[in-house]
Amino acid sequence: MIERVSLAHLPTPIEELPQLAQIFGGARLFIKRDDLTGLGIGGNKTRKLEFLAGDALAQGADMLVSTGAVQSNHCRQVAAAAAKLGLDCLLVLAGEEPRKIQGNYLLDRLSGAKTVFTTKAKRDQTLQNVVDQARQSGRRPYLIPYGGSNAVGALGYFEAMRELVAQNLAPDWVVFASSSGGTQAGLILGARQTGFQGKLLGISIEFDSASFAAHIADLANQAASLCGLNESFSIADVLIRDDYCKAGYGVITAAEVEAVRLFAQKAAILLDPVYTGRAAAGLLDLARKGFFKTGERVLFWHTGGTPALFVEPYSSGLLND
Ligand SMILES: *Cc1c(COP(=O)(O)O)cnc(C)c1O
Repeated sequence: MIERVSLAHLPTPIEELPQLAQIFGGARLFIKRDDLTGLGIGGNKTRKLEFLAGDALAQGADMLVSTGAVQSNHCRQVAAAAAKLGLDCLLVLAGEEPRKIQGNYLLDRLSGAKTVFTTKAKRDQTLQNVVDQARQSGRRPYLIPYGGSNAVGALGYFEAMRELVAQNLAPDWVVFASSSGGTQAGLILGARQTGFQGKLLGISIEFDSASFAAHIADLANQAASLCGLNESFSIADVLIRDDYCKAGYGVITAAEVEAVRLFAQKAAILLDPVYTGRAAAGLLDLARKGFFKTGERVLFWHTGGTPALFVEPYSSGLLND
């Protein structure tokens, strides 16, 4: 059994978005607000961290160590979890040390996290080095992988699927941003366990479908065995579209800008440019192509990321016509 600590405000609410649904040709559109999980501005990593930090405490850790991009939402939530639980936090950030302290990086620092900068290529090596150094100096670091996406972290979205089922919406489609895979792996396992009938469609933020689907199936299998469940998953169980990530990670195109603006202006929902903006751009494109049928219920699962809205050059790009 993996210990769980309470970090999130749950259950997160579901709202209907009727104005935006006008382009859905008769399908109904809903949103599940995991941007409101509440820990250090919230997001999907908070659900994973309920299990990861629970495991860390159970193992007697005194420090959370993790990694991500400079504007990582995951790292920001790790820093907040550490602050809340009285643990130290060390973040290995891939990218140049920013001259302007803003967005998620500002919040990392405000939460008291120590940061180390490295390149994306050297990320995992640097992570291992800082963990080894911490151990050698007598600390008890707990290593949380990129995106919190291991079997333990995936349990957060296994539980989230139970939560969704209990909310009695029974959506035909659940659409969400998928990037390190833990969210999708957990949802897939949760759907299998609860008998959820809707389809789970991940919009890939960075990776090609083929290898990514195999990774997610593998993660779901690991999460199942961690729970002692006799379930097995293959790529056939993983629905993922990679047609919206061709511009590359963190590159904001007209499609993301349109989605962020439409959600703000037609639903008062704040997306982020990197993850939810890209996933929503995919959602809107599919809707316009008639992918969703009349009478279907479509749930967009908001995974957070709001602080990235306040980061240059994203901010100014959002208002350019
Ligand atoms: C990390 C993240 C995702 C992707 O979730 P994964 O579990 O890594 O696939 C989506 N949206 C936001 C805002 C994120 O920070």
